Amino acid sequence: MSLADHLAARIRADGPIPVADYMAECLLHPQFGYYTTRDPLGAKGDFTTAPEISQMFGELLGLALAQAWIDQGSPAPFTLAELGPGRGTLMADLLRATRGVPGFHAAMQLHLVEASPALRDAQAKALDGYAPQWLDTVESLPQQPLFLAANEFFDALPIRQFIRAGNHWSEKRIGLTGNALSFGLTPPAPQPALEHRLADTAEGDLVELCEAAAPVTHSIAARIAAHGGAALIVDYGDWRALGDTLQALRAHAPADPLQTPGQADLTAHVDFEALAMAAKTAGCAHTRLTPQGVFLERLGITDRARALAAPLQGEALENLISAHRRLTHPEEMGNLFKVLGLYPSTAAPPPGLNP
Ligand code: SAH
Repeated sequence: MSLADHLAARIRADGPIPVADYMAECLLHPQFGYYTTRDPLGAKGDFTTAPEISQMFGELLGLALAQAWIDQGSPAPFTLAELGPGRGTLMADLLRATRGVPGFHAAMQLHLVEASPALRDAQAKALDGYAPQWLDTVESLPQQPLFLAANEFFDALPIRQFIRAGNHWSEKRIGLTGNALSFGLTPPAPQPALEHRLADTAEGDLVELCEAAAPVTHSIAARIAAHGGAALIVDYGDWRALGDTLQALRAHAPADPLQTPGQADLTAHVDFEALAMAAKTAGCAHTRLTPQGVFLERLGITDRARALAAPLQGEALENLISAHRRLTHPEEMGNLFKVLGLYPSTAAPPPGLNP
């Protein structure tokens, strides 16, 4: 039995499935899921993320959250949380960088929202000496001030895909052609959740809908609005999603999303407008969507890189220069990745971001 066999059996029994169901099975199936069964990060894995490129990323996000905590009167106790912490690298860098912030570590209660048992193990190792509490969902986060980071978490949440037909939408579904997985389309039907997209799309346009993103954001934003705090959400995507962004990555190369279910990373661009609207509904303010490169420059990444570079030479120095470039340059991750901050409407926005 493989995930492909399991999916084929499910489709034969129930009919073609939405892209979201396919993504959920591929990424988080308890036995065969991509994240549940492996550590996919780093040079030997399938993709590399900002915290894996350089310690500067987690350090700067950590100091930005600590500054927001100070700006809001250093509330104690508070929740320090990360969504989808991967190998725990960002959190380890964040904790090291904030050790010198008076009272921050003493007041924090560390919570990690992580679905993958394999990655929970990696996080426990990276955060040796701390006592994080692991949660399955954001709903279980305590009702107290919340300072939160999420890097490349929302892009792993399952999306549905719709193609416009008149004022209706056909949904892309995954079925079988013979024994092979293949895309098909449902007959057009109204989609109340896409009503606002009738104004900015044309016949045949593809629009993606991430139904899980709004409740997750709402839950975080409600805590921040009620108790104080800040969230830094970093991901690829834009203010409004248009077009097919479903992407499979295997061994750092693009792959066919239907070819090797459960063996490749599957992501989709984040529709940041949907996150911002969910935050607003929860009574929480959001910052302007800001390119990652601009955000990191404002937080002082170049000064930090200079300090780290001082004792280095040769290959180590080259690596640091290249890491700085990868994180910030508009042709690398600097523009592709965006940052959205959430904060209480009575407080200042987190450092590096504008209202
Ligand atoms: N933030 C890390 C890892 C990004 S990969 C980094 O930047 O390196 C996506 C992470 O989200 C993984 O840790 C994965 O296991 C986790 N994840 C994906 N979907 C999830 C879900 N529905 N609930 C909780 N964690 C999830």
